[in-house]
Amino acid sequence: MAPLAPSIPVAVVGAGTMGAGIAQVAATAGHPVLLYDAEEGAPPKAKERIAGALARAAHKGRLSLDERDGALARIKPCHSLDAMAPAGLVIEAIVEDAAAKVRLFETLEIFLRAEAIFASNTSSLSITALAAGLKHPERLVGMHFFNPAPAMALVEVVRGLASAPEVVETVRATAAAWGKTPVVCRSTPGFIVNRVARPFYGEALRALAEGAADVATIDAVMRAAGGFRMGPFELIDLIGLDVNLAVSRSIHGAYAGDPRYTPSLLQEELVEAGRLGQKSGRGFYDHAPDAERPEPFVAAPARPPKRIVVEGDLGLAAPLIDRFRTAGVEVNRRWGEGLIRIGNVRLALTDGRGATEWSHLLQAPVILFDLAQDFATSAHIAVARADQASEGDLAQAVGLLQAAGMAVSVIDDLPGLLVMRTVCMLANEAAEVVHTRVASADAVDQAMRLGVNYPRGPLAWAEAIGLERVRDVLDHLARTYGEDRYRASWLLRRKALAKRSFHA
Ligand code: NAD
Repeated sequence: MAPLAPSIPVAVVGAGTMGAGIAQVAATAGHPVLLYDAEEGAPPKAKERIAGALARAAHKGRLSLDERDGALARIKPCHSLDAMAPAGLVIEAIVEDAAAKVRLFETLEIFLRAEAIFASNTSSLSITALAAGLKHPERLVGMHFFNPAPAMALVEVVRGLASAPEVVETVRATAAAWGKTPVVCRSTPGFIVNRVARPFYGEALRALAEGAADVATIDAVMRAAGGFRMGPFELIDLIGLDVNLAVSRSIHGAYAGDPRYTPSLLQEELVEAGRLGQKSGRGFYDHAPDAERPEPFVAAPARPPKRIVVEGDLGLAAPLIDRFRTAGVEVNRRWGEGLIRIGNVRLALTDGRGATEWSHLLQAPVILFDLAQDFATSAHIAVARADQASEGDLAQAVGLLQAAGMAVSVIDDLPGLLVMRTVCMLANEAAEVVHTRVASADAVDQAMRLGVNYPRGPLAWAEAIGLERVRDVLDHLARTYGEDRYRASWLLRRKALAKRSFHA
């Protein structure tokens, strides 16, 4: 279906952060934009901010001067809702309050033509519920932009129970025509991004609560080994601990208290203490101008072993072998279960069991290493030592990984370590989204790459790790903790058993 023609006016109601950004996007795409806000002075102020943003874009060469002037001239601040009447699409970006949004749409139904499409930029409210009271509920969809709207490529196009397929398709095509990457999903709590991202925060908070590592070390490992642009704690500090907690609470409540989404007591305590992150000057980090940034824990240089034995296939960690050889370590190969022997010490990639459990099973000292986004190039890795392993055992493993060019962060014996357990839980959540027909596998992967800048889509990442290993990590975590939180999605199990891709 065709996008809305650029000659058709777009109304934006709510001229705050998101409304201004959305107005800029629509005007840049060539639409006349009618901008309204309950606060009389807000639309002209928003237009001033947009003028600044357009000027910066022109300065950087992203827009010509004509395009800049044209876009700005197309934005018309309005004083009343009836001025929205000519619009073919109205996008609402007012306060996140269901009653206020319902009232607004009911009023807009009086002024706008029956063919006009209604879209809500809500982050958390049900599109089905917002549409329920309308005379034409089929005309309403979610059009969820990310902040800042002009810069972020993703738009979640959210289908309510009554949304007409042609309305969904027109909004999808329009977002694409505006240079965005739309993904279609069903209206369910958190849509795609806010739901699938929960374990990114949840597992880090859990690791912190268990004392596995400190904030700076967890952030450093997630960035440098996991390839995430920001660590979970610096990201929560940026979002606001209270805002992030409110999303966790709302999703936890909406899914009937499912333990996968249980909010962290540690985060609740910090919010109670007023430590809300950057905006309050202190969150997980101290943001005072003179505050010292804590350094991540990285092991001191240790001597590498002269020779090692690689038993069996290391799977996705196999590129390490070349790195060990390049460092001058003699590597001998032997049949086995996919681990590295340094004398009596076993070094292996985590499978979700604790190193202490491995050690008990193998009757040998064990050091486990974490997942890295790319074992051929990673410059950082986390390891965990079994309680049965000595400092000397640890030093041999650390020396070997350092020789291969990696900074090594030693954390406590946390089952699944940091990157592996987080990525497996992200993939599990993504699998549930696909399993319950909220969105396709491609849509979920694309949404997580574009909406929160993940280095890979969680499902594609899980396939690169191997779905059987991902399932095993989850099963081991579920058994180790005895918690339903880590139960593996049936779809993930099916794909692992049948050796099929999510993307087929
Ligand atoms: P904001 O506070 O910056 O702006 C909201 C604007 O709406 C204000 O100017 C306010 O005066 C106006 N307003 C409030 N009630 C109104 C009404 N009844 N009629 C007309 N105008 C009204 O908020 P925001 O951050 O731009 O968020 C707006 C919406 O976008 C919310 O639904 C929010 O959940 C969603 N959202 C926010 C973000 C984000 O990161 N800020 C991202 C995606 C979606």
